[in-house]
Amino acid sequence: MRLLVIEDEQRLAASLKRGLEGAGYAVDVAHDGRVGLCMAREHPYQAVILDIMLPGLNGYRVCARLRAEEIETPILMLTAKNGEYDEAEALDTGADDYLAKPFSYVVLEARLRALLRRGGARTRSVLRVGDLWLDPAERGCGRGEVRIRLTAKEFAVLECLARRAGEVVPKADIAEQVWDAAFDGDLNIVEVYVSALRRKIDVPFRRDTIATVRGGGYRLVERHDH
Ligand code: CA
Repeated sequence: MRLLVIEDEQRLAASLKRGLEGAGYAVDVAHDGRVGLCMAREHPYQAVILDIMLPGLNGYRVCARLRAEEIETPILMLTAKNGEYDEAEALDTGADDYLAKPFSYVVLEARLRALLRRGGARTRSVLRVGDLWLDPAERGCGRGEVRIRLTAKEFAVLECLARRAGEVVPKADIAEQVWDAAFDGDLNIVEVYVSALRRKIDVPFRRDTIATVRGGGYRLVERHDH
């Protein structure tokens, strides 16, 4: 899952990025409202964490513009606790939730998970390919009744394939969705994760679900080995 953090306080932005990446999200950061707005328009983020006081364009306006353009990415707005900024206004401009600064990181992550759970249709439902299932909200995965433990990045790669099940998903698309804009372009990393996934979701079940498409990428399909 790829997130956008629009926050001009560099240290806060950096610590959010670190924390969220540790939790398995890919995170892009903008330190300016205008830049953040452009990024939010260009990339289908799963959620945006948006500060209110920003240079360039304030958070209310970023939010209002996105909604005016019918971009429905879930938005968690960061408000100031001193009451100078009205939380009702955050919701009025189209934010889905708000969190008053200073906040605890644990609370932020919980609110974000809740937002993703009830958020856009893209994140709401359990993804299924045959008996393989993925629950993006709970980050659960399994085959039928058997639960499969995946690392955060493995899950993200598989989710990327499952959202486009049956289609050829280029490695570059996976890299872009799972890693962030700073990704250095070595697509071998995608192969490494796909191999790890096969050892977990296919080999033990005698399946061959992740097909390699020569020169293309990967395709998630229901196939049986034998
Ligand atoms: Ca700020």
